[in-house]
Amino acid sequence: MAAVIKRRLILAIFHICKLAGLFALARHLTRFDLRILCYHGFVLDDEDRFRGSLFVGRDFFDRRMRYLRDHGYTVLPLGEAVDRLASGKLPRDPVTITIDDGFHSVHAVAREVLSRYDFPSTLYLTSYYFEKATPIFQLAVDYMCWKSPKHEVDLSRLGVPALAQATALPLTPENRVAASAQIFAHGTAALDEDGRVALSQRLGEALGVDYARIRDRRLFNLISPEEARELEAAGMAIELHTHRHQFPECPVAAAGELRDNRAAIAPVLGRALDHFCYPSGEWHHTHRPVLEDAEIRSATTCQPGLARKGANLLALPRLLDDNRVSQIEFEAEVSGFTDLLRRFRGKTRMPWMSPPSYVEWVGVAPEMLMIA
Ligand SMILES: [Zn+2]
Repeated sequence: MAAVIKRRLILAIFHICKLAGLFALARHLTRFDLRILCYHGFVLDDEDRFRGSLFVGRDFFDRRMRYLRDHGYTVLPLGEAVDRLASGKLPRDPVTITIDDGFHSVHAVAREVLSRYDFPSTLYLTSYYFEKATPIFQLAVDYMCWKSPKHEVDLSRLGVPALAQATALPLTPENRVAASAQIFAHGTAALDEDGRVALSQRLGEALGVDYARIRDRRLFNLISPEEARELEAAGMAIELHTHRHQFPECPVAAAGELRDNRAAIAPVLGRALDHFCYPSGEWHHTHRPVLEDAEIRSATTCQPGLARKGANLLALPRLLDDNRVSQIEFEAEVSGFTDLLRRFRGKTRMPWMSPPSYVEWVGVAPEMLMIA
């Protein structure tokens, strides 16, 4: 409750600061800093009610893009923005739009919205499910456990040893989460992709959720090779995000993820890929030589902030935008106001002066793990 009151208070202060002209002042002071926005999936059905930190609706996304256009922000392709950031030649109020993972909904929803504003963008594509063309196992399992209309289910015949005794499992919110975790753990440890699809189908039958509909509507599928080419033709550059959505600290394993990711995507596009996004934003100092060896030109994190001249191009901050971010918070972020507060807090070391960002009270969303 205290967090809710604190948030409302800070949102009210944001509105006052905007009216007082502080957003405009912040925008002027940060006019040559790069704002890199980050999105994930888009809503085809009810995915935003399932996971609002990952899926945003068409109207939500359109409102954000319209705000950028109507307020005179300069949207640049990532490659150009990175080059101009390095050379100190960014135009005023520069913005770059990035989208992580490569959900089919990017092609079905975001492509049309971005085309309407003629905005270039970058899609960081993870490639295991790009090649498999099956629903992301973890999301499909989590979604079905969340969506089941039943109050009690028999999960004893799924073939998941941890659930062998679950003949009459009450579907409380806690049991839904626990069962999903056990099914995911078994599917990743003991089954191949065909086995995981078969397990998903059995789970859907047990829960009373139509798995075929999830698969056919491609709620949790990634784009196809054909869609990747269409996105590129529409101004969305495809770049790297690891093969299995993991980037281990071990340099050999990390290099393997980059190699597999490139091998899956480059032949489809017929060009080299040299920009990268850390899966789940997790990065480590051991990654730098791996990225340099692979001739990666830029790498983005989930660290909130604007990128200033002289920024480390292999650890660029971004602004995560999703359903938890209100319009006034979005405006505070892209104006640079929130970032100036972060810098001020960092310099003064005054812990009572919390940066009023959504990250502070809900935390950065851990993305789904995609494991082969
Ligand atoms: Zn990701």
